[in-house]
Amino acid sequence: MTTDSPNQDIANRRAAILAALEAAHSPAPELIAVSKSQPDAAIDAILAAGQRIFGENRVQEAQAHWESRRADYPDLVLHLIGPLQTNKAADAVRLFDVIQTLDREKLADALAAAMEKEGRRPQLLIQVNTGEEPQKAGATPSKVGQLLRHAREQAGLEVIGLMCIPPVEEPAGPHFALLKKIARDYGLGVLSMGMSGDYELAARYGATHVRVGTALFGDRSAA
Ligand SMILES: *Cc1c(COP(=O)(O)O)cnc(C)c1O
Repeated sequence: MTTDSPNQDIANRRAAILAALEAAHSPAPELIAVSKSQPDAAIDAILAAGQRIFGENRVQEAQAHWESRRADYPDLVLHLIGPLQTNKAADAVRLFDVIQTLDREKLADALAAAMEKEGRRPQLLIQVNTGEEPQKAGATPSKVGQLLRHAREQAGLEVIGLMCIPPVEEPAGPHFALLKKIARDYGLGVLSMGMSGDYELAARYGATHVRVGTALFGDRSAA
């Protein structure tokens, strides 16, 4: 019996997820490969399979993964999907193409200053804490309007969409529906929602971007 190599496994899983996304919704959402905590071999394997859109949740790890690879892959698109400290705003603006985790006014101000200084303007999404979980990052649904106004009018930023991470112990559907409703209320077109366990569901709810780690790379321990 033959077994596929780990690299072939990653390519096969990617192809299956892309096909499932195509089947779930037209147009299919973009697949963001979440490369946090992945070894170099796994990242190189998925690059070889054609993946160019990646998500990372820590600035420092993202720099280690991507600063040197950028030169070889000019079509890379890097999304920051983890919480951002204001003192890392300049580093994030320098590296990422999309920052999905704008969640407070102070961060909007820091990002505006960093963009001015760096001469680079990543696209921005507001992270919404749809479950209103006290320990979770994100603006609560009732604060989105105020944050959006601040970002646009005080900080001069353009915000193009919303992202959410539903509570783990709840069905995700109502959270996806809520995020979509808030986006519609504010005329925002980009919706980042859905992870390994629910990317097809998110696609059916109209996600424009899904963020998939383990379903793509396999368990970190098996990598
Ligand atoms: C890690 C992470 C993901 C990917 O999670 P998987 O369950 O491994 O697909 C998606 N979004 C965010 C914000 C993450 O931190």
